[in-house]
Amino acid sequence: MFSRIMVANRGEIALRIIRACRELEIETVAICSKADERASYLKLADITVCVGPEDAEGSYLNIPSIISAAEITDIEAIHPGYGFLSEVGHFAEVCESSNIVFIGPKSDVLKKLGNKTEARKIAIANKIPVVPGSESVIKNQQHALEVAHKIGYPVIIKASAGGGGRGMRVAHNDISLVNSLAVAQREAEASFKDPSVYIEKYIENTRHVEIQILGDNYGNIFHLGERDCTLQRRHQKIIEESPSPGISERLREEICKAATKIAKAVNYTNAGTVEFLVDKEGNFYFIEVNTRLQVEHPVTEMVTGIDLVKQQIRVASGERLNLKQKKIKNQGVSIECRINAEDPQNEFRPQPGKITAYHTPGGYGVRVDSHAHNGYEISPYYDSLISKLIVYQKTREEAIACMKRALSEYVIEGIKTTIPLNLELISHPQFASGNINTIFVENLLSKS
Ligand code: ADP
Repeated sequence: MFSRIMVANRGEIALRIIRACRELEIETVAICSKADERASYLKLADITVCVGPEDAEGSYLNIPSIISAAEITDIEAIHPGYGFLSEVGHFAEVCESSNIVFIGPKSDVLKKLGNKTEARKIAIANKIPVVPGSESVIKNQQHALEVAHKIGYPVIIKASAGGGGRGMRVAHNDISLVNSLAVAQREAEASFKDPSVYIEKYIENTRHVEIQILGDNYGNIFHLGERDCTLQRRHQKIIEESPSPGISERLREEICKAATKIAKAVNYTNAGTVEFLVDKEGNFYFIEVNTRLQVEHPVTEMVTGIDLVKQQIRVASGERLNLKQKKIKNQGVSIECRINAEDPQNEFRPQPGKITAYHTPGGYGVRVDSHAHNGYEISPYYDSLISKLIVYQKTREEAIACMKRALSEYVIEGIKTTIPLNLELISHPQFASGNINTIFVENLLSKS
């Protein structure tokens, strides 16, 4: 096992990883930017190194600076969390060549699966259903039109290097396709420094169902069941739960089998998530693999009793996964609400500023993963996630009741948050019925 790890991230996920390390008695080196220098979660790390200025480019994405900090502090491994460098194949490669263990899949796997068009090819080669679409990146307008005519409208243009719902555009006809193509390419270039896009049939009335995968360095690959992340706004998840209330036991098994097959095909190691869309007829389609820990990993932890961060660290240190597929039992129901510092009444504008009063909910079945506290200053430089509220109960009905109660106890003053939106969604009869799709939130918001 490692004795010292660097946590190359910030906020709630940095704290989540530091906590796991403390329980494993591993020392931590936290990195931070100028903006985060005084954040109190850093006090829980053994050492903190400021790696650059406020902007992420200069700090949390600054590979030379992070590697220098790693060398100075003599760490053995780096946990990249999610976002920032977590899916950057080049970073994993630099770690490998600097003799630092990257806590995640190997760099070649990151590179292969990080490109969504390549990942689609791997799925197709393994006979996993994919959404009908272009076989390669879109070469020009003519190519886009040909693909759209072949698969039929509506279509969705997606960035090959995409993530976080950026660079995605839905087109319903030739004119909107031509216009959206240029916009999507520009957005992809700006967000990922790669303008390549591809096209898929836009599946209407769909759920988002994803499978948690865990693999070790000895060829053992397990799935830890599914998470349902259908409640989204602008293709970004808001509420996640496990198990999915919208799929049958048979379908669940089929999807888990497909996810494991893809992971095996690339000799996947460490934690990863294989994402699918499920249409109302119960057909499922592979969309991508996220080669890292997901924001919503706690719901899987709650229903399986498996600490994913500890498992990631163990696997990276060379331990064998001490699991048996048949013994991984998903029990009970877990739901997570993402609490963002955004104003839902004002086009979800980010809410940088100081938290002037803070009180977290507690009690049976409640977990709060957050670095926020009274007096915490939310920086304008990074994403707006400030807390994840997770509940765990025996049934979905009880989990919903628990989440409602916990959300209404949560006090965050000084800035606006998405707590009221979460409360509205979790209290909605359609959410309770489980009969929702990925545009449920947008439809609800457009009516209010
Ligand atoms: P990102 O990597 O940017 O998060 P994903 O490919 O994971 O993008 O898709 C994010 C969300 O966008 C999905 O959960 C779904 O709501 C929507 N989406 C993606 N592809 C399609 C599609 N072909 N049809 C309908 N919705 C889609």
